[in-house]
Amino acid sequence: MDDSAFGSHNKRGDFKPFALREVAPIWHWPPQPMKVLKWLPSLLSAWTAFHMATALVWWFFVVPDMATLKTLTWQWPLVLLVVNWVAAALWYGAFEWRLYAKRAQGNRFKYHHKFPSQQPSDVFWFKSQNIDNALRSFLIGVPCWTAVQVILLWAYANGWGLWLSWDEHPVWLVFFALVLAPAWHELHFFCIHWLLHQEPFYKWIHSIHHNSVNPSPISSLSMHPVEAFCYHAVALWHLVFPSNPLMALYQLHMASFGAINGHIGFEKIEWGGSRLFDSHAYLHYLHHKHFDVNFGGDGLVALDQWLGSWHDGSPEGERRMQERYEAKLARMNAGKS
Ligand SMILES: [Zn+2]
Ligand SMILES: [Zn+2]
Repeated sequence: MDDSAFGSHNKRGDFKPFALREVAPIWHWPPQPMKVLKWLPSLLSAWTAFHMATALVWWFFVVPDMATLKTLTWQWPLVLLVVNWVAAALWYGAFEWRLYAKRAQGNRFKYHHKFPSQQPSDVFWFKSQNIDNALRSFLIGVPCWTAVQVILLWAYANGWGLWLSWDEHPVWLVFFALVLAPAWHELHFFCIHWLLHQEPFYKWIHSIHHNSVNPSPISSLSMHPVEAFCYHAVALWHLVFPSNPLMALYQLHMASFGAINGHIGFEKIEWGGSRLFDSHAYLHYLHHKHFDVNFGGDGLVALDQWLGSWHDGSPEGERRMQERYEAKLARMNAGKS
């Protein structure tokens, strides 16, 4: 597959897509109703469908009955933890193995010219980003994901939360699944992520995730425990929303499985010969690269644009970032004098 129709590689070999990222067209001004109409089907992407499908699988085949969930024991949370470990190993492992271990598409569509295994560093456990990230994901990321899941299910089983049935509220719940849940994911992520970029939280907590300047799929859940818990805690909001446990599980999976989107490191994934799959990874790749931009997601809620931290990959985005950086530097220097 030739990637030159979609972007270009610089001298070092870093791939830069031609297509600029845009916030959701609902935020465009002047309003562009046709563009909004064309964009609407993208709310049900293959990624979203995957989160819905896995939520259904968990709800019907993994989560125990309400009578069991009512009482906190070691047994059922441990089963959930093991299932989540296996699922994370399969999901993150599949992308990591195909794109980074087997290097099935080489450097085609790859943002960074190097693979993490070519960059040993003292900041990582065993000097290896891969080993460090895998251990942190499995020892910290997945247990925190499971802790949120356990609190959520135990709370629902004990009568907390407004539990809406699908029979009585199908329109609201479908709207919630397709629009509100992804929007809430972005809002929650932006808020905790922006906060974690402030000192001393950055130094204490978030710097661990940012050790991976050139992330790969296994970097997705490589976090400090506080970050891993707060990130997955997006699902706990469902205890105060008119929602139900299945929807909350879907929201949880959007975080636990969906973290991969920012960390794939490739613009597109080659699939079955000539088919290409959008990774949605560029904005968060730029965040890892430049640090002070794109705190949110894809722009369904355009917080980065409203607050001036949006970087769409263009020279204009680069210029805005430099201006903000110089203003910050001037503020710091003024504070010192
Ligand atoms: Zn960050
Ligand atoms: Zn990240």
